[in-house]
Amino acid sequence: MRRTGRALRHGDACARQQGATSPRALGAALGRQDGRARVHRREAQLGVDLDDPGLEPRGHHAVGVLDARQQVQGLERQSPAASPRLGERAGSECAARRRREHRVALRSELGSRRSVDVASAGLVPVGEPDGDVDGDHGVVGERGEHVGEPRPHERTPVVHDDPSAAASVHARHRHHAVTIRTLRSVAERIEADVAVVGAGIAGLIAARELVHAGKEVVVLEARDRVGGRVLNRELSDGTVVELGGQWIGPTQLRMAKLTAELGLETFPTYNSGEHLLRFGKETGRYRGTIPRLGPLVLADMGQAQTRFDRMANRVPLETPWAADRAEEWDTQTFESWIRRNARTAKARELLRIYSEAVFAAEASDVSLLHALFYTHSGGGVDALAGTRGGAQQDRFVGGSQLVPVRLAEYLGDRVRLSTPVRRIEQGAAGATVHARGVIATTARVIVALPPTLAGRLLYEPPIPAVRDQLTQRVPAGSVIKSHAVYETPFWRDDGLTGQAAGDRGPVKIVFDNSPPGGTPGVLLAFLEGAAARRLNRVTPDERRAAVVGSLVDFFGPRAAEPVDFVELDWSEEEWTRGCYGAHFPPGVWTQYGPALRAPVERIHWAGAETATVWSGYMDGAVQSGERAAAEVLHAAR
Ligand SMILES: Cc1cc2nc3c(=O)[nH]c(=O)nc-3n(C[C@H](O)[C@H](O)[C@H](O)COP(=O)(O)OP(=O)(O)OC[C@H]3O[C@@H](n4cnc5c(N)ncnc54)[C@H](O)[C@@H]3O)c2cc1C
Repeated sequence: MRRTGRALRHGDACARQQGATSPRALGAALGRQDGRARVHRREAQLGVDLDDPGLEPRGHHAVGVLDARQQVQGLERQSPAASPRLGERAGSECAARRRREHRVALRSELGSRRSVDVASAGLVPVGEPDGDVDGDHGVVGERGEHVGEPRPHERTPVVHDDPSAAASVHARHRHHAVTIRTLRSVAERIEADVAVVGAGIAGLIAARELVHAGKEVVVLEARDRVGGRVLNRELSDGTVVELGGQWIGPTQLRMAKLTAELGLETFPTYNSGEHLLRFGKETGRYRGTIPRLGPLVLADMGQAQTRFDRMANRVPLETPWAADRAEEWDTQTFESWIRRNARTAKARELLRIYSEAVFAAEASDVSLLHALFYTHSGGGVDALAGTRGGAQQDRFVGGSQLVPVRLAEYLGDRVRLSTPVRRIEQGAAGATVHARGVIATTARVIVALPPTLAGRLLYEPPIPAVRDQLTQRVPAGSVIKSHAVYETPFWRDDGLTGQAAGDRGPVKIVFDNSPPGGTPGVLLAFLEGAAARRLNRVTPDERRAAVVGSLVDFFGPRAAEPVDFVELDWSEEEWTRGCYGAHFPPGVWTQYGPALRAPVERIHWAGAETATVWSGYMDGAVQSGERAAAEVLHAAR
């Protein structure tokens, strides 16, 4: 990785700016302290992303008006540099017209120009600075502290050498007018062969492959951590639980190889005893994989699953849209198929639980073709749903996030945290990736994001319609993963595995997620699909009560009082926005499928959703990273 710009301190000012688009946010961001204008980092954006390196390099500024409560009430006119009409006074025709237009323009000294619709930002213009200049003027840092001496009033943008100085503030006592100026481009410039967007397992694997091949790589990660959908959380006693992806199964060969390479250990998911299956108010116990359901239901479930697996095997993993009955299967939902092919209510419910467990989505959300592809990709219904011999077989000692953490350790300072990518430009000479605080110039880019988030980046030139429309159509599922912690795994005393499934919810799937030593006892409860969406809207206490209520339904009153409770609603995660992964509704595979992996000039697509084997899983993420890296290396030949 080559750095051409002046290297800035880690976590420089721009790297931490956040958007502020409402008057409340702006008002809160602007305040006065000790008679000096004070700026918090959020205000500098004034409803636009001044952090956007496209506004570089310096000299943007806008005029706002503070009311007596120090709330920003308006943005009125352009900077001296940007507006030849700066000298106009209140009441002039032009100024009045500009107030009506409610726009503020920002302009860089290089001539690029952006304007913001003040009305749509919710700002109400009032007053007009009258040009008197008798107030405080200083330079403030990222936390709003005053870092420069007050200077005489200046009409021209100030360039300050201290990279932590993100804005200057000019305040005038009488009218409380505030001028905010960005001072300079603080984006670090990096040259590399490849930029990887996203430090989940897919992005980190892609980067590692490229480094092995001698390429210079930079990985740009939005969060302040690596791992994306894989996340450890330590309980108060030091026990690690995983809030995201955690299990690996015996046919996940890439993850098995990676685990060994990284020197990590796994242990079997607790599986001794009987499982619980609850329909309505009746709870049954069973061993192994076949529940006690009565011969009619078992026969019905058996025939439906056999038929489903057989159809799944006919979906080509590289090209699901080319399946012989692709059109027919992609114009119906998994739910329609269940209704036609399972005759008993319990078999239907079990298939619906399967949908929620693997897609975190209702069977009615998912295309039948997608359900078939995904099932084939993981090796069949039993492989996806099973514990011993299935996808839930093993867990990581120390938690699965050790996988991305170790990968990131290998990559070292090639991984840049807290660096969300906003825009990717590409042309004949190369690509430029614009992230917060970093501008990376590269030959190739690997976007290792879930498709929806990839679709939220800006592309210049715009990406082809088919790719954009694909990303508009592949929503993430909804899941809230909760852990209820008990002093001991009391269910084991009752001869239970801790694994439970039920049709009533809100929790429909439970696992024993205790650490290898068995203490404390941890029950992992999933809220998925509609239940997750419904309980997203209640308070954390209400949600906890609902989850614990389900655990009591399964395991009795001893489940009523967990000593600790941790949860994560993945839909609320800004840089994920839903899990376990994306699912394809009807019509998407057949209409847009080929755009899922097809590179767009210099941009290549990775991420678990782009995998052909174990699509949507950590193993699939590894496959996708390897494939995207291979594409880049092939293109470089
Ligand atoms: C609750 C839950 C349970 C799961 N259980 C399992 C399981 O048991 N076994 C299994 O194999 N899989 C499981 N999964 C799925 C598995 O975690 C994912 O398939 C896998 O981790 C995806 O990796 P990825 O690298 O493709 O994507 P991600 O992990 O989503 O990585 C994308 C990265 O990009 C970053 N990013 C986003 N936007 C930007 C941007 N604009 N600029 C820069 N960076 C950005 C994100 O912060 C993230 O780090 C589970 C997932 C969840 C959420």
